[in-house]
Amino acid sequence: MRFTKLVDYLAKLEATTKRLEMTAILGALFKEATADEIAPIIYLTQERLGPAFEPIDFGIGEALAAEALAKASGKDKEAIKKLYNQHGDYGIVAEKLLSDSGKAFTVTQVFDRLKEIALASGEGAMTQKTDLLADLLQKLSGREARYVLRIPLGRLRLGIGDPTVMEGLSWSVTGDKSLRPQIERAYNVCSDLGQVARVLKSEGVDALAKIQVEVGKPVRMALAERAKNAEDIVTRLGKCAIENKYDGFRCQVHKRGDEVRIFSRNLEETTAMFTDIADGIRQQIKAKTAILEGEALSYDPETGEFHPFQVTMQRKRKYDVAEMTVKFPLRLIAFDLLYLDGKDFTSQPYSKRHETLASIIAPGERVELSRHLITQDAKEIEKFFMEAITNGLEGIIAKRLDSRYQAGMRNFNWIKLKRSYQGHLSDTVDGVIVGYLRGRGMRARFGIGALLVAVYDDDQDKFATIAKIGTGLSDAEWPQMRELLDKIAVAQKPARVDALIEPDVWVEPKYVIEMQADEITRSPVHTAGKVGDEPGYALRFPRVVGFIRTDRKAEDATTVKEILRMFEKQGKSMSQ
Ligand code: ATP
Repeated sequence: MRFTKLVDYLAKLEATTKRLEMTAILGALFKEATADEIAPIIYLTQERLGPAFEPIDFGIGEALAAEALAKASGKDKEAIKKLYNQHGDYGIVAEKLLSDSGKAFTVTQVFDRLKEIALASGEGAMTQKTDLLADLLQKLSGREARYVLRIPLGRLRLGIGDPTVMEGLSWSVTGDKSLRPQIERAYNVCSDLGQVARVLKSEGVDALAKIQVEVGKPVRMALAERAKNAEDIVTRLGKCAIENKYDGFRCQVHKRGDEVRIFSRNLEETTAMFTDIADGIRQQIKAKTAILEGEALSYDPETGEFHPFQVTMQRKRKYDVAEMTVKFPLRLIAFDLLYLDGKDFTSQPYSKRHETLASIIAPGERVELSRHLITQDAKEIEKFFMEAITNGLEGIIAKRLDSRYQAGMRNFNWIKLKRSYQGHLSDTVDGVIVGYLRGRGMRARFGIGALLVAVYDDDQDKFATIAKIGTGLSDAEWPQMRELLDKIAVAQKPARVDALIEPDVWVEPKYVIEMQADEITRSPVHTAGKVGDEPGYALRFPRVVGFIRTDRKAEDATTVKEILRMFEKQGKSMSQ
């Protein structure tokens, strides 16, 4: 496919905010693409050069883009800057400056060039990147350059999340979304929509079932639902396993011989940060190949006791790793096994996975099995829960004994029961900031006074508002927040945001914050869970807990479905 053709599709996508139209446009695009080019097309529309878990940084910032544009167009940097100030988008500047010739490159050629630019490293890399980008821009038409430049700058803003891509893939085959379950299953297992699309295109729908768990490719993680109390757990699960709910970093560990890779809850690679866990796996896991999951917590080597999450948190850094591993060593509390010595364990029942996991952990400092009790007695569960709370843990997780590991699913195979505080919802809500209001009164000097926050509607691939929140950040944090938000400010309501409230500044849905609230109420001004003329749902007395959650992507925020379930459950929270 010629790149100019892809640009036609991107322009059409840009012109609509209606999800159904987007899906149909993507469907037509994917239908036209060949098996070789469909993966690059998907990565490019998502502003990437590969699956999210293998990030290749473009290394192209605004300054470099301006420089390359100057070179490609023969204009001086001042002229470029002026145009940029006028339009606020280097894509448009490129379109204005570059001629209308070009149009000969294919999608694959553009993709390969961008990859070459991204991979340029070492001494002189900046000059090399600038030259390569300038050369590429020169060979493109202005309209093509508009989109090519927006990709590395993260400015495509098409509003296409993974669910929309999956439905587009289904449309490309059947003209409707009926294949989404098969596509989603494959995606949950390999976390790479490019691979899923390639298999679908070259081998057909039935071949998707052949995509299986592989060591080295993160599996989208299984998540837990909520329960009101121990009785509720027993009613739902009957005889079940109860485990402690540890509050640390979720780690999915992939081991092949001595090679160990660790992925976080949102499938980012964290191996370099958690070298002590990787060492522990090499020493204590008796398997050639394995994928296992656990929670990594910092502990005091003197007493063996775990530190609170605030201490564990300090391990999330890219620098001074060696020093931190000595100061705050981590231990992995393993709780699940997904793969062992060539065998996929995800379809085995939980009880078998846990038992096998227990058998491959050798004694040692770094890895241990999660504490676990099998029972169907609500009283016993309550006792286990109280012990967990007394030990400073968050609560418990109950697990259905005969359940498979359902990648990427939040359901009642796992049920969490967390400590509740009087007058609080028994769980916090993770929301995505979609805009902010300028401050009044005391906050006027910050230019920011409240955040407009949304939750994720995963059926519609939209962010629906749930709260306007002005409490919980300190005077030092508000200006910091504003600086971060101004970098992702946009002129209009972003395509995927569903809101009735108009903030002073819209921002791309990117940053996730954790919120505590007293309860969930119905509200006519918020769109979370809103159907037709009925009111939506809102948080009452919301306050920010902590700052931005860097371990969450926008799509990892609490979902509308979870809010509806929390609404049903509130008021009947577990007593302590
Ligand atoms: P929360 O804010 O409650 O941690 P979450 O959205 O991060 O929620 P949930 O699915 O709600 O994730 O809760 C499961 C999380 O609890 C897992 O992601 C994992 O990190 C953590 N966890 C701690 N102990 C266990 C355990 N024994 N089994 C499974 N998960 C556990």
